[in-house]
Amino acid sequence: MTHELKFKTTMQFAYGEPAPVSPGIVRIVANNPSPLTFKGTNTYLLGMTELAVIDPGPRDDGHLAAILKAAAGRPIRQIIVTHAHRDHADGAEGLKAATGAPIFGYGRETFAAVGPVTNPQGAEFIDYVFTPDTKVVHGDVIEQKEWRLQAIHTPGHAPDHLCFALADRGILFSGDHVMAWNTTLVAPPEGSMADYVDSLELLLPRAESVYLPGHGDRLDDAQRTVRAYLLHRRWREEQVLAAIRDGVGTIQSIVPVIYPTIDHKLSSAAALSVQAHVEHLIARGLVTCDGDPTWDQPLSPA
Ligand SMILES: [Zn+2]
Repeated sequence: MTHELKFKTTMQFAYGEPAPVSPGIVRIVANNPSPLTFKGTNTYLLGMTELAVIDPGPRDDGHLAAILKAAAGRPIRQIIVTHAHRDHADGAEGLKAATGAPIFGYGRETFAAVGPVTNPQGAEFIDYVFTPDTKVVHGDVIEQKEWRLQAIHTPGHAPDHLCFALADRGILFSGDHVMAWNTTLVAPPEGSMADYVDSLELLLPRAESVYLPGHGDRLDDAQRTVRAYLLHRRWREEQVLAAIRDGVGTIQSIVPVIYPTIDHKLSSAAALSVQAHVEHLIARGLVTCDGDPTWDQPLSPA
């Protein structure tokens, strides 16, 4: 039995054009498409008379102008960042300069800076010195008269990742944690499979059924997707473990077994995803490795 996932890879949008996705919520897609960002980063404007911007997106004058135009003179009171990857956070300073709004986010300073050597989300993707004006941790509330957001710390894709639940609306701003167009990239050292699985399980009992992600279209029936992603990760993990038990003893040799048809542009991401599974298996004593589980380090079943 396989657990291949069906993704929603269509999306109606035009770059820079505000599109309503729910009452009082407008989405603007930034023009930064790539294999990791799909069509581009979603920026959300929340509110009717006073606004918050969730994920200002990349540094891009056209995108900043589109946000200000969509605000149409209504004040932007908060700039909220789901995580300090550059495609979400880099536009924050420019938006702050234009509006005076403070930046809200988890902050990066407790996480060690790491280089870009093996990580497709390396230094060029991560703002290691991202420092919000207001630090947000799990359970914190950000609110205005018209709405109330509660922060949910959801590490896995990134250690500082936050989702935001919109109270009484059944809506979750899910950032890059859960998206409809693809599963998120969990790539060490930035990503942690153990954290990712815990952060998926954290969402299962929650009431929100509509997710507004950082890339791609809105996700309806979200719990079903979260359950499918959990099953998918377990299935992938079983494949990795079975390969190691069959004597396929390095990450390098496991990748083509697990991802036989992978697009070469994504092969380093696939290798890091395998590494994330291997680290998770090692942490639970199911696999052993002398030293760090790098690309060609021998792995054995425990
Ligand atoms: Zn992203």
